[in-house]
Amino acid sequence: MYIYEKAPAKINLMLDVLHKREDGFHEVEMVMTMVDLADRLTLSDPGSSRISLSSQSGYIPLDDKNLAVRAARLLKQRFGVSRGVHMHLEKRIPVAAGLAGGSSDAAAALRGLNRLWELGLSEAELEELGAELGSDVPFCVRGGTALATGRGEKLETLPNPPRCWVVLAKPPINVSTADVYGNLKAGEIAVHPSSSKMREALERGSFRDVCGGLGNVLEDVTLKLYPAVERLKKVTESLGADGVLMSGSGPTVFALVAKEEKARQICNGLRGFCEEVYAVRTLG
Ligand code: ATP
Repeated sequence: MYIYEKAPAKINLMLDVLHKREDGFHEVEMVMTMVDLADRLTLSDPGSSRISLSSQSGYIPLDDKNLAVRAARLLKQRFGVSRGVHMHLEKRIPVAAGLAGGSSDAAAALRGLNRLWELGLSEAELEELGAELGSDVPFCVRGGTALATGRGEKLETLPNPPRCWVVLAKPPINVSTADVYGNLKAGEIAVHPSSSKMREALERGSFRDVCGGLGNVLEDVTLKLYPAVERLKKVTESLGADGVLMSGSGPTVFALVAKEEKARQICNGLRGFCEEVYAVRTLG
């Protein structure tokens, strides 16, 4: 028996950092939504108690460092599962891109193993387990669109944005999320994007207001550290997208576009600057 799970990428429509907490994490406010660029996870019973992972991608660890493997170990230990699993990960989401690929794989593993091992866990229980694996995992378990607070694990579901095109451009550089947060001076952020403005835009179903409310306080930090991302953002803006923002800690820059023809034009324009460019739809 094979079980298939889709692991979609997320983008941040807004990301604000309120302050650094005593536990070293940052207190954040993020509105995230899923897009239809996805990894595909296949789970099967190996007939033994082993946990193993294979992938066509050469860019990810296949051992205990992989978040999908960590998800399997967590469930196996917590619920005393004697069975094992073989997982195959067809990786499509660029790695270390600010698109939560690893977190989404972990969420897909939690959902898939809940079925394969017949654990009978609720979505809320899977979200709680996900929080032990990473701040973005609970959102990836829930999917759709949500406001995430705390260190990203407290979720409130919001209406999905109006269906539109999302052009994603990932420059060929690796950005360390830890470095970006390390260089952020939370007390000196000049302009904070507003989660309530984004919430209102989503509740009104206004594409224009969603574009107007885009904001990410990590963008300034990453753009200063990596001028290639700044150039990419300027080029994307010059191509006439309705809204442009960096996702997460970067380096992926995304453009929201209402019209398909315009999305194709932007995609073609960006291909001269950047090898990894995708035109996808918002999910939901
Ligand atoms: P986020 O947006 O949550 O910060 P990201 O998109 O920037 O995440 P990921 O693609 O999740 O970053 O990868 C970050 C690191 O995590 C990689 O360098 C990789 O070594 C490790 N990793 C662990 N498991 C996975 C996985 N299943 N897929 C991709 N990377 C993984």
